[in-house]
Amino acid sequence: MTKPAVFRFAPSPNGELHLGHALSALIGYERAHRAGGRFLLRIEDIDVSRSRPQFVAGIFEDLRWLGLTWEEPVLFQSQRLPAYSAAAGRLAAMGLLYPCFATRAEIEAAAAGGPLDPDGAPLYPGLYRHRSGADIARLKASGAPFAQRIDMRACVAAARAKLAGAPFVFTELAEDDTPQIIHVQPEQWGDAVIIRKDVPASYHLAVVVDDAWQGVTHVTRGRDLFAATHIHRLLQVLLDLPEPLYHHHRLITDESGRKLAKSARDTSLRSLREQGVTPADIRRLVGLA
Ligand code: GLU
Repeated sequence: MTKPAVFRFAPSPNGELHLGHALSALIGYERAHRAGGRFLLRIEDIDVSRSRPQFVAGIFEDLRWLGLTWEEPVLFQSQRLPAYSAAAGRLAAMGLLYPCFATRAEIEAAAAGGPLDPDGAPLYPGLYRHRSGADIARLKASGAPFAQRIDMRACVAAARAKLAGAPFVFTELAEDDTPQIIHVQPEQWGDAVIIRKDVPASYHLAVVVDDAWQGVTHVTRGRDLFAATHIHRLLQVLLDLPEPLYHHHRLITDESGRKLAKSARDTSLRSLREQGVTPADIRRLVGLA
């Protein structure tokens, strides 16, 4: 007997869910049901400065109102920090991480006019990539806060060595499930942050560790995270984690064509509900009906 497919919806509780989240949650839920699979909810709350209990409560309320059910217990990433440290420790033991003490302003100044990463941030110009051990020891002793970055070139070389000639790819499923093979190009991110200065994890590390730990076989999320999948696949190879299938769905945009933001109160599910909009209306509004 083959194991059932496992899907997940993984919101961050740093604002109210909006129509874009409704589309994402409904797509994941319906694909899970169509596949006879399981549907999980994961609360991505590693960013303690932005996560709020009332937003967690709002997520449960909004999703229940939409008619979704999920398996209990819900996984909270804030409870999983030791697992992320262990994964980072493995990357460090492979010599793939280095501490970076640069402030955002320093990076912006050094990278001005240079290339951008897929999120539109300046590509990290390697400020701390080749510092001497003595330099780093001195900076650490001074108590200066630091992030941990991956040495991207070394990571790609290590991943290719691990793959031993197997293709470095991930599989993107179209809306009709037609598979498309995507060649992994994580270099577009430069030396990405794997452990943040303020949080002992990062989105990229936590998502990869938890998708594997929860046995997620199908990652469904918005097109805005398509480029992130290149890093996720890299980390999966380096950490010997299984490879899920991906479906990056269309985004809901506002009248000016911009992706909806959490601050966009007028499209929050709570305010729509309070205005008398029904779950069936939501399905129509996101183009699923
Ligand atoms: N927590 C992320 C967000 O709310 C989504 C993560 C994912 O689906 O991989 O944007």
